[in-house]
Amino acid sequence: VSEIHDQAAFYALGALDPDELDEFEAHLGTCERCRAELRRLSAGVALMAEAVAEPAPADLRERVMAEVGNGSLPAIDRPRRAWSRRLVALAAVAAVVVFILGRPPSQAERVEEILAASDLATVDVRGPAIQTGSFAYSDSLDQGVFTGTGLQAVVSEETYQLWLIGPDGPIPAGLFVPTDDGTAEVVVEGPIAPGVVLGMTVEPDGGSDRPTGPVVAGGEL
Ligand SMILES: [Zn+2]
Repeated sequence: VSEIHDQAAFYALGALDPDELDEFEAHLGTCERCRAELRRLSAGVALMAEAVAEPAPADLRERVMAEVGNGSLPAIDRPRRAWSRRLVALAAVAAVVVFILGRPPSQAERVEEILAASDLATVDVRGPAIQTGSFAYSDSLDQGVFTGTGLQAVVSEETYQLWLIGPDGPIPAGLFVPTDDGTAEVVVEGPIAPGVVLGMTVEPDGGSDRPTGPVVAGGEL
């Protein structure tokens, strides 16, 4: 049933009836898509609570707080009331969406979203510049997260650059310098597919259009 996925927003906002709640929680145990959606929504809902606490539409705020904050419903007229809670929940979700779209996602949010992808795959990234490395990626999202430890430091005029190397050659996929303790976590966007190679080179500050040095670490997707 496809509608069950759409319950995630209502669930996050506490707007499901007890029966729907049971059904959705059972579904949640088997559906990564809904779990990912919930993680996303939960962050948004927390942000919304802050945003809503400011002046704005006092009436909506009161209703959201009254409806969403109240877990117990009188048995009488539950259907009508459940429906009105849904409208409030929808309005609240719309507010969250507007709020979220209004600001770029943080690195942590992007990483979380990628790592929650249902088609997530992970490959090792190895090479002389790195102790341990991995690349977790989603073919469907065309995004991945490179994680490395024991990275050699680069001098101040240099940067590491990642590349996605496919049939048409290398495509720039992000610049980074390791932290002081030699770790890095980099979000990579680009044409990700099986067979593409993630490569890492040392480049002049600001990066290059094409790799100018040898690949110092890499892995094949
Ligand atoms: Zn689902």
